[in-house]
Amino acid sequence: MIKPMESILIIEDEEKIARFVELELTYEGYEVEKALNGRDGLELATARPFDLVLLDILLPGLNGIEVLRRIRKVSDVPVIMLTARDAVVDKVAGLDGGADDYITKPFAIEELLARIRAALRKKREVRSESQPSGLSAGSLHLDPETREVKVGDALLDLTKREFDLLQYLLVNKNIVISRETLLQDIWGYDFSGGTNAVDVYIRYLRAKIEEPFNLKLIHTIRGVGYVIKDEPV
Ligand code: CA
Repeated sequence: MIKPMESILIIEDEEKIARFVELELTYEGYEVEKALNGRDGLELATARPFDLVLLDILLPGLNGIEVLRRIRKVSDVPVIMLTARDAVVDKVAGLDGGADDYITKPFAIEELLARIRAALRKKREVRSESQPSGLSAGSLHLDPETREVKVGDALLDLTKREFDLLQYLLVNKNIVISRETLLQDIWGYDFSGGTNAVDVYIRYLRAKIEEPFNLKLIHTIRGVGYVIKDEPV
């Protein structure tokens, strides 16, 4: 498998430095975009995901600390600040503002590359340590972003209504939800089909996620409604 290129955004108003770093990073195999002022940089940084941002502090228009502050509102992308020599105040402000690292200008390109590799490695580690995104009960897993539902490695094919109902139960795992609540929240208040629509869809779900895998996750609470649990009782 070809490793996807990691993308780096350079926000630096000194064109010679920006160009030099761009060439070096491109040579190292990174995909690079650059912005020559804070406003363009911020626009790029929030318009698409980058794997890392190199951010100069002294920028015309919007300075680096302010750009960082605004990036942090929407993204936890690793940011390495480029600071002037001995600008301790800038370093502190940058780190307080959520920068991951900083490097003092002028810098040796090898040092910058090493810091970039370290920041990217840290990001990958954090990502692999964090729990896989999504909701689960036992071996059933639902990913709200990709809308994939799996039991173990088996990918299931659910209709939108089935998916919504299952997601609702999983969000409320271990909590008994009444038929009326399910009907209101999944079908909407103006649905006039009666609460047995819920029972019908629970049957569909059971036929897809339980019966083929010999699981028992959705429990009927007689006279009340349904609950999903990790383990059969
Ligand atoms: Ca500058």
